[in-house]
Amino acid sequence: MAPDSIGHTNRPLKRGRKFLNTPGPTNVPPRVLNAMHRDTMDLNDPEFLDAAVESFEGLKRVFRTDGEVFSYISNGHGAWEAALVNVLAPGDLVLVPETGHFSSSWANMAEALGIRTQSIAGDWRRAHDPEKIGQALADDSGHQIKAVLLVQTDTATSITTDVKAVRQAMDRAKHPALLVVDTIASLGTIDFQMDDWGVDVTIAASQKGLMMVPGLGFVAANAKAVAVHKATARERRYWDWTPRMAGPGYRTFCGTAPQIHIFGLRESLAALFEEGLERVFERHRVLAGATWKAIDVWAQGGALEINALDPAERSMGVTTIRTAEGISADHIREICRDEMLAGIGGGLGVFGGKAFRIGHMGDMNAPMLYACLGAVEATLAYLDIPHTPGGVTAAVQHVAEFKKTHSATTF
Ligand SMILES: *Cc1c(COP(=O)(O)O)cnc(C)c1O
Repeated sequence: MAPDSIGHTNRPLKRGRKFLNTPGPTNVPPRVLNAMHRDTMDLNDPEFLDAAVESFEGLKRVFRTDGEVFSYISNGHGAWEAALVNVLAPGDLVLVPETGHFSSSWANMAEALGIRTQSIAGDWRRAHDPEKIGQALADDSGHQIKAVLLVQTDTATSITTDVKAVRQAMDRAKHPALLVVDTIASLGTIDFQMDDWGVDVTIAASQKGLMMVPGLGFVAANAKAVAVHKATARERRYWDWTPRMAGPGYRTFCGTAPQIHIFGLRESLAALFEEGLERVFERHRVLAGATWKAIDVWAQGGALEINALDPAERSMGVTTIRTAEGISADHIREICRDEMLAGIGGGLGVFGGKAFRIGHMGDMNAPMLYACLGAVEATLAYLDIPHTPGGVTAAVQHVAEFKKTHSATTF
């Protein structure tokens, strides 16, 4: 049934606000929405150009880079394509460590663009071993591999791969391939340091940890990647970096700028910096920990399980929960969204129908998380899915314990 409007008379539970705990799009803070409630303006209005310059500077601070940043009117898929067509020509070979649904989709896109892919199989329950990536590069003595396409956090599996360790393994193999990293689900939830870690190209999108509405895709490139770009001949137009490097204005966006989005982005970045990135990451750690506590309690019933086998590899922004044979994760998700008013994510790729995902990233505080966990627990009870009750209490206690040792931190 299509979700109807809040306050529907036949459904008394449908009053008040809906909760959103999908791992993208995420909640947008009211101050960001308010910053977007404004008139469109002349293409070269200095007020807009200032906002664009500030936004690009802010993105560099989040990426931790002094390199170039490009902003596209697109989603994450657009940013993927932008990265690929700027540094890779048809026939080039890339190495793709399989992290889950998103690494596979990205590899499919590369193939559709004429790029050859060499995959390193992964099991969707563990992070990639950087040594295997290093070994694949060491085996490539002729340096055919032009780039490694790595997803930092694959939202399908909710597992994070150690980007810094992958770079170190590449360096040990003395291989010149570019390191291209998808941070769409991780930027603004965990540490990422493009320049210090030696990432050449970084990909992100507005609607996850950056707390903005969907519609902006970002790519950052270091000097090495820009040099490769200049030497890469292939068809490309909208995504082309060269005209976009001319400075803020019409060419930066290859046409009319997404003015209102840029005002929103400036505000969401300001909110991140006011909180402080370290505090933002700490908040994500606490909310992730609370989520895992809740699931551990429910899992005692035998029907649910956290996908990531090693707790050290779990994402701080999203948790994938597997359901036992015969239990439809899609049904849980639909009831949770349509009847309990909390939106959660479904299983992707081979996890379709067999897993659901709780997002705890972006503009999220503890009571917002409790609401979602309460909705999930109510759904489990409503559907008679075996589980031990008390998950929400365990989550609440986790936050209270944290608060006892960090009294200055508010959630
Ligand atoms: C969400 C996501 C994408 C896709 O982004 P869209 O904006 O939906 O195109 C790609 N990679 C990762 C890791 C993601 O989490």
